[in-house]
Amino acid sequence: MSTVPPRTEHPSPASGRLYQEAIKVIPGGTSRIHYWFEPYPIYARSARGCRLTDVDGVERIDFLNNMTSLIHGHAHPVINQAIIGQLDRGTAWSEPGEAEVELAKLIVGRVKSVERIRFGNSGTESVMLGVKLARAFTGRDKIAKFEGFYHGYYDYVQTSVRSAPAAWGPSEAPATTANSGGLSGSVLGEVVTFPFNDLAAAERLMAQHGASLACFLVDPLASQAGGPMPGTGYLDGLTALCRRHGTLLLYDEVVSFRLAPGGGQEKYGGVPDLTAFGKIIGGGLPIGAIGGRADIMELLDPGKGGPRVLSGGTFSGNPLSMVAGLAAMELLTPAEFERLDRLGARIREGVNRVFADAGERIRMAGDGSLCRLNPTADPVTDYRSLVRNAVPASRMGALHRNLLDEGIIIAKAGMTCLSTPMGDAEIDAFVGAVGRAVANLPR
Ligand code: PMP
Repeated sequence: MSTVPPRTEHPSPASGRLYQEAIKVIPGGTSRIHYWFEPYPIYARSARGCRLTDVDGVERIDFLNNMTSLIHGHAHPVINQAIIGQLDRGTAWSEPGEAEVELAKLIVGRVKSVERIRFGNSGTESVMLGVKLARAFTGRDKIAKFEGFYHGYYDYVQTSVRSAPAAWGPSEAPATTANSGGLSGSVLGEVVTFPFNDLAAAERLMAQHGASLACFLVDPLASQAGGPMPGTGYLDGLTALCRRHGTLLLYDEVVSFRLAPGGGQEKYGGVPDLTAFGKIIGGGLPIGAIGGRADIMELLDPGKGGPRVLSGGTFSGNPLSMVAGLAAMELLTPAEFERLDRLGARIREGVNRVFADAGERIRMAGDGSLCRLNPTADPVTDYRSLVRNAVPASRMGALHRNLLDEGIIIAKAGMTCLSTPMGDAEIDAFVGAVGRAVANLPR
């Protein structure tokens, strides 16, 4: 029996009023699904550093950072200065520009496997272009991905992201399921779904499908799948397997690039042929990028006998995103990574102590500045281990809601991340808020 009466008031009444206006013109009242929650999301008015103010004027600490994309928080003065300087020089050109070359050099310099890079506008676009490059390079159609892993909303990766247990199929050969309406019927037949962290299963599935697989899409630390840590040697094993079958290894580092100067591949191993980027490399403005081996990336070169993979994008490589991204990446020094790693360890240790002491089965997973509240105390090694003994979604929803009341922003599904303006005070505020939020959950 609940000892705490359910809350009826929404944490942001002004958001409710705006929502009523919004739904007359925008389905669901928002242009994307990520931050939507019952009965309606909070609407933002302004943000600075690690704090965001909603339309009621209520300030909260932002542990979501536009879905992990703002590693330096909001309105960082150095990034702002770069953007303001560019505003005076124009917001979009048909011509490539200097900052584009500089940002490309910086990323190529930091990520060993990336010899060439091409910019776009979103992580989804980057993954899409990676898949197309792999198909053009190998002459094969199919792709491989892991069950439970999210890679944006390109048709071929909107599969087996949130499969319901009844549709899972065998654990060693998961079924490929559609996760969105509007996918062509042929899509499911072109995606082979693998279980994460199971090299023996991967060997069997590759023996069966490898010859028809253009690429294997891998997120080294898949937040939406609960952040399963790749087992020792797993990503190197997968690299060898892909090489053996002529399948290109495509890393999705749209989120995991916030883990180390060289991204998740530097931290956990494996050597991708191609890497998709997004989020933090835009310094808070829209961006995406695909990078990788020069011989594959050459397919994008319009000067080499005509482009064999066409990539356009009116705003690809636009100078605002380029200068903001360059400023953000220059600010992201090895010392900042070290500090974020320390803060990340502190938040996970503190929060997990709170959950364990309260007898609560929720745990915080993650690495470095990337964190996630998982609905299970079981070790999460793949998608199924995240879901199998999960506490009800309603309990996670109540925790999310209680945290909003405590002045903390995370994603309803548990995604949480740190930004460089944060320090011990914000981490301790989060841990304290979780303690009170948990005490106010129904018993
Ligand atoms: N890959 C991963 C791992 C992601 O988390 C996301 C977005 N959250 C994407 C790709 C797609 O990026 P975007 O939303 O910029 O299209």
